[in-house]
Amino acid sequence: MQKLLSLVILFSVYCHAQNPYPEDYFRNPLDVTLVLSGTFGELRSNHFHSGLDIKTQRREGLKVYAAAEGYISRIKISHYGYGKALYITHPNGYTTVYAHLQKFSPTIEAYVKKLQYEKESFEIEVFPNSDELILTKGDVIAYSGNTGGSGGPHLHFEIRDNEERPINPMLFGLDIKDTTAPDIKNVYAYPINEDSHVNNSNERQKLRLIRLDNGDYTVENLKAFGKIGFGVEANDRQDLASNNNGVSNIQALFNGNMKFEIDFKRFSFDETRHLNRLIDYEHYKTKKKRIQKLFVEPNNPLSMYKNLDNDGYLTINDSTASVYKICVKDFKNNNSWITINIEGNKSQDIEQKDKFSSDFFIYANKTNELVDKTIEVHFPQNTFYDDFFIDFRVQNDTLTLHDDTVPVKNNFSISYDISNYGPEDSDKLFIARLVGYRKQYTIYSPTYRKDNILTTSTKTLGTYALVSDNIAPTIKPINVSEGKWISNYRYLKIQIDDKESGISNYRATINGKWILMEYDYKTKLLQYDFNDKVSTETKNNFKLIVTDNVGNSTTFETMFYRK
Ligand SMILES: [Zn+2]
Repeated sequence: MQKLLSLVILFSVYCHAQNPYPEDYFRNPLDVTLVLSGTFGELRSNHFHSGLDIKTQRREGLKVYAAAEGYISRIKISHYGYGKALYITHPNGYTTVYAHLQKFSPTIEAYVKKLQYEKESFEIEVFPNSDELILTKGDVIAYSGNTGGSGGPHLHFEIRDNEERPINPMLFGLDIKDTTAPDIKNVYAYPINEDSHVNNSNERQKLRLIRLDNGDYTVENLKAFGKIGFGVEANDRQDLASNNNGVSNIQALFNGNMKFEIDFKRFSFDETRHLNRLIDYEHYKTKKKRIQKLFVEPNNPLSMYKNLDNDGYLTINDSTASVYKICVKDFKNNNSWITINIEGNKSQDIEQKDKFSSDFFIYANKTNELVDKTIEVHFPQNTFYDDFFIDFRVQNDTLTLHDDTVPVKNNFSISYDISNYGPEDSDKLFIARLVGYRKQYTIYSPTYRKDNILTTSTKTLGTYALVSDNIAPTIKPINVSEGKWISNYRYLKIQIDDKESGISNYRATINGKWILMEYDYKTKLLQYDFNDKVSTETKNNFKLIVTDNVGNSTTFETMFYRK
């Protein structure tokens, strides 16, 4: 009996080792059925998605519950990114994150408002002590919203371990209905070396997918030689929503042996930008489709690879027959297989790709400087993953710095010497990135000035120029005007905008006292809640100063009545 018992214990320990995460500790943070608009590890712009995006029935204001007992350990409000966000630390060491919230529960809201009024700032970040905001599982902590960089009402929910690494919340038992296998959009073959080729070409080849009756895929037979790799474009759909989400795992086998695996279960924020090394960045930037490469190039620090054999690369010899299989899985282990039959065939007559070359060569592991009269570009060591010829041209104040088809790992700087501008003009200059088909749109690149040098730090290659902003921000009152009675309004609403360098800051007062105006960059709206009761007077003087990124400012003043 003793023996049997220890065997049972041993077995259950073994089972737990399969999934080390507690499966019934956390509850659904909403009380609606879990339907996702985003899965964990999903490929996004410059990052992997770090949580679940839970649909909130196309509206805001759904109650958000503490997923388990714990205390609020961090509150952050920012114009962009997560907007209004709460972090709960739980006794088991995990932290849950709730983002894009509309507002907090009354207790937390009061805690935050006090701080905002002390600091005279809408944007804040605070780390409350463990005895301040204590919660029981299921307590209402907030209401769902669409704040920050959210493109529609939803709740962004994360679970992080004690090293701040996000983990797929579905590993904790949050159940999402999914019975459909991932969808394979495209498969590509990549000749790697100068002498390797696929279907008589040294360039990346799109393979024609053939769907089989059982839902799996194959491609037309492939002729190849030398060192090659593959890439796949795939996504997944859950049962209750029609939107495309990310897949959970991809494996590749060569003649029955495991060659490659990537598993999107956990990562760290340090590595999230290296998504640009996983995908074919140039293809993404030109075609807006993300091919995931099933081979690992040098300088790829992603931790999610497993079971790599020769980094996922294949070597195809002449006159051989081999089989390459790709298996794409969703979290529920629904899978789609792609079978690729490869005929080893050395061809004499192969198309070579035209490689770009210029007078400027970048060594990824060295510091590189590019200088032309008034412009200086400084790339620290390891700014890039690969060595490459860079397209570097200067015409007046317009700098062509390649284009955004080469992924950038770390920040580099661009400096302009503006001594040849008069003091009046030079005060209004900023560095902008030019985008659009005709480079007709400018994007403000955070610009710092020291004497006559303007510098920006960026992670994006492309076209840059000096742009002048002589136009002050606009201020448009929505529900207030001189001498108006506005007793019936809960909020004071003002729209602000700055088309050139953009808004840097704003400050609003009533009768000289600072008021909290919440800012939403998407609607360009500033809102003050009269329930904050900054003024109890009948006659009120409202004043708002808005400043843009080069220091132009606009002041708006009006008098209103309220009882
Ligand atoms: Zn999200």
